[in-house]
Amino acid sequence: MAKKDLKWGEIGFGYIKTDYRFVSNFKNGEWDEGALTEDENISMIECAGVLQYSQSCFEGLKAYETEDGHIVAFRPDMNAERMMNTCKRLEMPPFPKERFVKAVIDTVAANEDWVPPYGSGATLYIRPFMFGSSAVIGVNPAEEYQFRIFTTPVGPYFKGGAKPITIRVSDFDRAAPRGTGNVKAGLNYAMSLHPIMIAHREGFAENLYLDAATRTRVEETGGANFLFITKDGTVVTPRSDSILPSVTRRSLMYVAEHYLGLKTEERPVYFDEVQDFAECGLCGTAAVISPVGKINDHGHEICFPSGMEKMGPVIQKLYDTLTGIQMGRIEAPEGWIQVIK
Ligand SMILES: *Cc1c(COP(=O)(O)O)cnc(C)c1O
Repeated sequence: MAKKDLKWGEIGFGYIKTDYRFVSNFKNGEWDEGALTEDENISMIECAGVLQYSQSCFEGLKAYETEDGHIVAFRPDMNAERMMNTCKRLEMPPFPKERFVKAVIDTVAANEDWVPPYGSGATLYIRPFMFGSSAVIGVNPAEEYQFRIFTTPVGPYFKGGAKPITIRVSDFDRAAPRGTGNVKAGLNYAMSLHPIMIAHREGFAENLYLDAATRTRVEETGGANFLFITKDGTVVTPRSDSILPSVTRRSLMYVAEHYLGLKTEERPVYFDEVQDFAECGLCGTAAVISPVGKINDHGHEICFPSGMEKMGPVIQKLYDTLTGIQMGRIEAPEGWIQVIK
């Protein structure tokens, strides 16, 4: 066994077929044992619940090589729990947490040669997902489901340093109060494609979504949670029932408090107060933190004092500490690092 011969520093964020994926089917009220397979294709009936009424959900996490040569995954138990919550909201059968974690371990171990080497900046992206696979025509949950995990190597998120991005306030809403914004359903992404394409065409990296009810509070972007830093160094993240609870954001809030001794607040954040913050970042598995330099609100620009050249100092410290924990350079809190090999 030997590492694949890829230009790790140059691959992007796209699908590259790896050797094995995990598949388990739910039928007659229970999940089967599941197995690894080499077949990347799925064959299903044209009337499948996922194809008709979008009954699908997913997760995303990463495996990578640490400084001392282990292959690890970051907090897969958190993804397992979040997917169980998503399943409940979508009337899908939760895949048990211990089995989820074991399936992640087995899938990554089987694709060991695809785990990018330490220091390359690349990682092995892990995509667990589930969908309704049996025929549904009257509006009902499917009776059968498939749970799968595939992996794909992804390149460094920031090539040549993390440059702050410019985002804009969207005229579309991401999630309704009491809707599905707090679960990782594929449908939340389907409806975000139109707003993100418009944003990109107009030169913005992401959309900032406001709360749908009052359009006065900051929620999140299409796929990342906000962190703001006040001028006196407090880390603030918006609280709302329609925000997807990012594992990265929750980890960063812990790091802020317990590793960096910073004050943290999870509370409603009004758009009106955003101009008073010193730094802003977007957090998610893909980038850990993307610094935001500027927010455009219908032509009015909010420019953070951290500027457009580099991450602000507090965001940089958070980024360095969490990536240090992930890569094994800084001791992790109990249970954060799942050793695979
Ligand atoms: C997945 C996701 C995130 C980021 O969550 P992580 O667990 O940190 O990767 C943030 N917002 C939305 C809408 C998401 O779907």
